Amino acid sequence: MLEELVMPLRPAARVAPFTESVIREMTRLALRHDAVNLAQGFPDFPAPDAIKEAACRAIREDVNQYAVTWGTPALRQAIAAKYRRHYDIDLDPDTEITVVCGSTEGMIASLLGVADPGAEIVIFEPWYENYGPDAHLSGATRRFVRLHPPEWRFDPEELRRAFTPKTRAIIVNSPHNPTGKVFSQEELGQIAALCQEHDAVCLTDEIYEHILYDGRQHHPMLTIPGMRERTILVNSMSKTYSVTGWRVGWVIAPPELTPAIRKVHDFLTVGAAAPLQQAGVLALSLPDSYYSELAHHYSERREYLLTVLDECRIPALRPAGAYYILCDISGLGLGTDLEVCRHLIESIGVAAVPGSSFFVHPEDGARFIRFCFCKRYETLKAAGARLSRLALS
Ligand code: GLN
Repeated sequence: MLEELVMPLRPAARVAPFTESVIREMTRLALRHDAVNLAQGFPDFPAPDAIKEAACRAIREDVNQYAVTWGTPALRQAIAAKYRRHYDIDLDPDTEITVVCGSTEGMIASLLGVADPGAEIVIFEPWYENYGPDAHLSGATRRFVRLHPPEWRFDPEELRRAFTPKTRAIIVNSPHNPTGKVFSQEELGQIAALCQEHDAVCLTDEIYEHILYDGRQHHPMLTIPGMRERTILVNSMSKTYSVTGWRVGWVIAPPELTPAIRKVHDFLTVGAAAPLQQAGVLALSLPDSYYSELAHHYSERREYLLTVLDECRIPALRPAGAYYILCDISGLGLGTDLEVCRHLIESIGVAAVPGSSFFVHPEDGARFIRFCFCKRYETLKAAGARLSRLALS
């Protein structure tokens, strides 16, 4: 009797192995404690006017109903044009491009579409927290390969050992969250060689492709010889156009894999917001100067936050791309990452992300915390003023 009453309240076993997002929890805590939120990576400044206007125009023009499940043709054509312009790659919008609800959906729809339960997925550690639940929900097993600070290089032999006959895919995120590492062409080549040797797929999360510093270049994995037919590229409008709440992303995959990804996408979401897809067409046609200005904008904020952290005597690792800074808090004498983040939110008034949320064993991330700098100067300045109390205490 008691069992009957309790059964409906029991969650499915598939959700047991993972927690809710720590990054998003930090945002809720920041709101509760009125802390400056340098935790979750989203801009607090407006998106470009032209993009906002295009979205409003689309709604006024009654683009209010479902778009084609895998993306409005104009947006898929604009995505193909973008890759032709930036990387000299020819994509077929009908067979290789799927518009999804942000890269979060793109990544999990891709994994559900191509990885069988029991398959192995290679992931670089530290990793962006979504890849853990993604693997659990698709039934895949993760095999980790460590990135070593300060350059966050991997050991090619360790990478080779991580590939087994069960390996179905490797996830590569470059520029990388949380470290800011930009994988070199040589490193991409090593990964590509192993994918080809083991007949594995490479899932690449390229959401920070335009946020690169010190003259670095982005090289999509699918431009590496032999990788076009085994790469699934995930990207979105979120970071490049400062519209993280719009949830418009895309997946580029070989024609043989695209139908599987589209099926998952269709039944999970039907499609991304139609008027916002329309605005995406305009966003993707912005001139090259938009992208160089974006990189410059973030490069200045990177310097600013690095200076603030230096003044507060918080040792920071300089990122090569993306908009996060990992700090080594082991010498501060304030405890573990979780203890420091709690102290920062509750007593100092600044939210950061505990490093342990990027590692499988929490103790491996206990000496790191992550700040983001995709914020207005006023926000970074306010965070700096509060963090300076840390240096005094
Ligand atoms: N990518 C961002 C981060 O790492 C935000 C993630 C999210 O909440 N979707 O902070």
